Amino acid sequence: MASLRIRVYGDPVLRRVADEVTDIDGEMAELCQQMFTAMYEAPGIGLAAPQVGVSQRFFVYDFGDGPGVLANPEIAESDGEWTYNEGCLSVPELSWEIVRPRRIHLRAVDLDGNEVSIEAEDLQARLFQHELDHLDGKMLLDYLDDDQRRDAKRILRQRVTGQSGRPPGTGDGLSLP
Ligand code: ZN
Repeated sequence: MASLRIRVYGDPVLRRVADEVTDIDGEMAELCQQMFTAMYEAPGIGLAAPQVGVSQRFFVYDFGDGPGVLANPEIAESDGEWTYNEGCLSVPELSWEIVRPRRIHLRAVDLDGNEVSIEAEDLQARLFQHELDHLDGKMLLDYLDDDQRRDAKRILRQRVTGQSGRPPGTGDGLSLP
């Protein structure tokens, strides 16, 4: 099977509010396996379905202690505040200082269809919030001020001419040590 292509800024699927997952079946499990392959190759620590062109509410992740899949995630509670340099596989090679709550209580459904409740903090909480943003069609550029966004868009437009490098920063765009 062909490997998945990670969609980048400008692709309309990244701006769509994804649909609730209604069937957790073999097809979704197969897609998750392909998403893990794409995520590890990138390399990244998280990848949301819209990032591979599938407008459904689930994402895969791996903080280095094994793969996980969460569907229909919702943040029940959040607190604290933490600024951290964050990147995104869909906005390669760019990163910004982004403020987010430090701790969250996340409710979701796993690949077996079981409801899960997760207390996350720091990098884990940040990644979950980042991936949940993708499910709502939100991207890092939405957190920037006008000047930052203008600079980012200028750089992204220049990309059309083609260049490559490694993304700095952390978000779903960096593998953990
Ligand atoms: Zn991202």
